[in-house]
Amino acid sequence: MITKFIKRILRRDPMVKHTQANNTGAPKRIPKKAHRIDPHLLSKNAVKVTHTLQQAGYEAFIVGGAVRDLALGISPKDFDVATNATPDQVQRLFRKARLIGRRFQIVHVTFFGKGHPEIIEVSTFRALLDNAGDHVAESGRILRDNVWGSQGEDAARRDFTINAMYYDPSSETVLDYHGGMADMQKKTLRMIGDPAKRYREDPVRMLRAVRFAAKTGFELDSATRAPIAKLGKLLNDVPSARLFDEILKLLMSGYSWKAIQGLKDAGLHHGLLPLLDHILDKGEDSKGANDFVKLALANTDDRIQSGKSVSAGFLFATLLWPDLLKNWKANSTKGMANIPALHDAMDDTIATQSSGMTIQRRFESDMREIWSMQPRFERRVGRYPYRLIESPRFRAGYDFMLLRCATGELNPAIGQWWTDFIAADPTGQDELMASVKNESGNSPSPAKRRRRRKPKSAVPPESAAS
Ligand code: ATP
Ligand code: MG
Repeated sequence: MITKFIKRILRRDPMVKHTQANNTGAPKRIPKKAHRIDPHLLSKNAVKVTHTLQQAGYEAFIVGGAVRDLALGISPKDFDVATNATPDQVQRLFRKARLIGRRFQIVHVTFFGKGHPEIIEVSTFRALLDNAGDHVAESGRILRDNVWGSQGEDAARRDFTINAMYYDPSSETVLDYHGGMADMQKKTLRMIGDPAKRYREDPVRMLRAVRFAAKTGFELDSATRAPIAKLGKLLNDVPSARLFDEILKLLMSGYSWKAIQGLKDAGLHHGLLPLLDHILDKGEDSKGANDFVKLALANTDDRIQSGKSVSAGFLFATLLWPDLLKNWKANSTKGMANIPALHDAMDDTIATQSSGMTIQRRFESDMREIWSMQPRFERRVGRYPYRLIESPRFRAGYDFMLLRCATGELNPAIGQWWTDFIAADPTGQDELMASVKNESGNSPSPAKRRRRRKPKSAVPPESAAS
């Protein structure tokens, strides 16, 4: 009874006022037999959201990357909904709904199920920039935009044609304003509107172009690709936090190695990660580093493609490791003791990185922990190993160490020893400790033993000071 009453009141509310008539053309309506989206790939919660909004008299569609992925037959990792209801109107319809953001308000509707909670992001159709006033920097970059608009305008604001399709789960129809479905068939990534203008408005779209090309395997349309060479430098003006988010998405796309190659081909990698400059520019000169990073990224891609989680701190720790090793070695050559040399190198590496794109603090502390754990894997004496496996970040440090073994930077026998040590019961662990003693003779000094055991490691020699 009460819900009915609320619904009636809500329906009386004025919906979004379009800033002007839809001058962006009628969409193509694509029926199920043509788009072949499998309803089983839909999130039940996303359908609940569109359904609730529609029941309340609003328009509501699944939109953006989710529709692109559904049309590709891939299960989308998250679902966005677009509607003509304002954020306040959306919020009133759901119990767990939160208004997010000040500049462009959106609503996060959260559902708690068996696994992780699922957040459906609901945004109101947004107006085209020209109608929204002059919120543009001299370079053409959009500074502010939060005027609601029609669906057609909302579509025209999106980046690529394949990201601008709207799917209505009730009628199983796709509304396609910019020929996204035809581009899907042609395997083409095409920017909506004038590509140069769109990159000037938001230079991050150049990174997005590379990311989606890697992810979908589509080719960039020539007009979409052409301006990037000239406009790439506009990325320097983008706030660091935004750049970081986009690079993180790129690295976590499940196609990170391919995407990084794509950045190189487009000439976009400079200044994003110093490491990419080294590796991608010097090629064979930095083969060791290249192998390490390649393996780390392949590993990340595998994990993501099989639905496992990846820690950003871990990922950045791997990407900056070759740089860190270089600094660490240089410090050791200068005569610094091993551990201070490592810590000093960590500071240097992070400072150099921050001059390009600052890595968020919470990830930085993960990176430092993973790095500083590395020499401890070689200290297999006394209580050290027993203490090391108790550290909260042990697993990350261990996985990282295994990568070093896989590229031959660290003796693989050490990795195997730790794998056995983790799996062993207390007696087994004591036996493994004894085996290290036997392996290296009965040296009383850990430092001495380590030196003998570690002929090929790229890690600077441990000193007694550690
Ligand atoms: P992913 O699968 O990686 O999440 P996505 O396409 O969903 O890809 P999001 O960053 O989640 O990417 O953005 C959702 C949608 O918002 C996009 O599909 C696109 O329509 C629009 N969008 C996002 N960023 C931009 C941008 N910088 N310029 C224009 N439109 C954008
Ligand atoms: Mg998305």
